[in-house]
Amino acid sequence: MSDAKLARQLPSVHELVKKAAPGAERHYPSGALTAVAREVLKLWRQAIMERGEMPPALDDLVQEVRQRMESLLRLSLRPVINATGVVLHTNLGRAPLSAEACAAMERVARGYCNLEFNLESGRRGSRYSHVERLLIDLTGAEAALVVNNNAAAVLLVLHSLARGREVVVSRGELIEIGGSFRIPEVMAQSGAILKEVGTTNKTHPRDYERAIGPETAMLLKVRPSNYRIMGFTSQVDKEELVGLAARHQVIVVEDLGSGALIDLERHGIGPEPTVQDSLASGVDVVTFSGDKLLGGPQAGLIVGRAELLRTLKENQLLRALRVDKFTLAALEATLQAYVREEAEQALPVLRMLTATPAILQQRAVELRRLLTGRLGHACAVDLRRGSSRVGGGALPMEELPTTLVELRPAGLSTVALADRLRRSDPPVLVRIQEEAVLLDPRTLTEEEIALLVEVVVVALAGGITQKKASNFEEKAISCANEALYDQPEEDQDDPDCV
Ligand SMILES: *Cc1c(COP(=O)(O)O)cnc(C)c1O
Repeated sequence: MSDAKLARQLPSVHELVKKAAPGAERHYPSGALTAVAREVLKLWRQAIMERGEMPPALDDLVQEVRQRMESLLRLSLRPVINATGVVLHTNLGRAPLSAEACAAMERVARGYCNLEFNLESGRRGSRYSHVERLLIDLTGAEAALVVNNNAAAVLLVLHSLARGREVVVSRGELIEIGGSFRIPEVMAQSGAILKEVGTTNKTHPRDYERAIGPETAMLLKVRPSNYRIMGFTSQVDKEELVGLAARHQVIVVEDLGSGALIDLERHGIGPEPTVQDSLASGVDVVTFSGDKLLGGPQAGLIVGRAELLRTLKENQLLRALRVDKFTLAALEATLQAYVREEAEQALPVLRMLTATPAILQQRAVELRRLLTGRLGHACAVDLRRGSSRVGGGALPMEELPTTLVELRPAGLSTVALADRLRRSDPPVLVRIQEEAVLLDPRTLTEEEIALLVEVVVVALAGGITQKKASNFEEKAISCANEALYDQPEEDQDDPDCV
């Protein structure tokens, strides 16, 4: 039979549309369905005419159209289940928000709000006023400002306070985070002139002293959050730097990166300096992220001396870096958890980081029980001790003890299982190690554990769970409080920021 004759065996658009319409339980918009059917038929006609392929069965065509429709109607950005145990995963959206933060965002999203309107005076207000007081109270700073992220915060600080002048930085602190934030490059963008001092592992006060000259505007300290230099090292401590700066009438700025507001050492994590400590030691301006250890939305927080912050607030660049109402709503609610002294309970990031080994073991035992009940001989399910990671460029050396659930599927490679889990709906992200798929309960909520079990059962049976996206999304929103799906870190080498 000729190719043209074969191509004529394809159904008409009308016939394919009629067959592919899924019936009462699901509605496809007719315009989109017709367009998709036409596209599928066109591709097949080409395949037959140009590559000599055989026409597919009608059922296969229907399947293809339905699959394309489902992916068309499904949101691309959607929740995932993080079973990796990496708490702050940049690729997975970093910090899950508290229930209060989610609710605050939703409230301002639905309608109008007093973003830049002072309700007392009836005049124009400042969007930053909603969080400035909280940041001042929590950190002891004179003033505060919020921008899009910490990279923007560093850029704004350098541009406002050191453009055209010199900034002295230790060579051991010229960091790169996630491949796109590099101190020397941000410095160049800001118009400030980088003056490197010391060596990679050691920088002494005299190195700074010698570098300070009439063109020096600032000494910049950067927390090397995603790595540690081990062995013979020395960096100049903050108090000494502050003394030096005062003698030479220059300012000290610190990029803290993570920016903890509570001392995590009381939970056995760290040491990680707090923002309060940094300001108390005399640093003039401190910048940090909203979505790392703070546990809030993506944001760059800037706190410090009022006079310096005024220069930042007057900089035209601020307009390009400003945050929207969602960020401010979520940040305000997140900061209030600290004011209420409930941060460890209310904020998912801190809840996950401070979960005790006993709690994690209990969750792992429960997860194993649910899995073995459903899996039978399809997969061996065991427990093993292991560690979780903080991620997000914070505390790179920290090993948080946890209990892992180990899956060894029968007749299926671990990579294949991980692949099916990742492509399920909801997607499940796992760790793979030594011929086993590992699930870390640290980043799983109770609701997610139940969902996860369903996904694993289907994946082992050879399928990919295809729940309707809307179901999971509704569920995800409703469990936003206890829960909050978390984030793993795909990139094992640089779990920080990619
Ligand atoms: C993470 C980090 C940044 C970048 O912060 P973003 O909020 O991701 O823009 C900058 N500096 C340090 C030290 C960091 O740890």
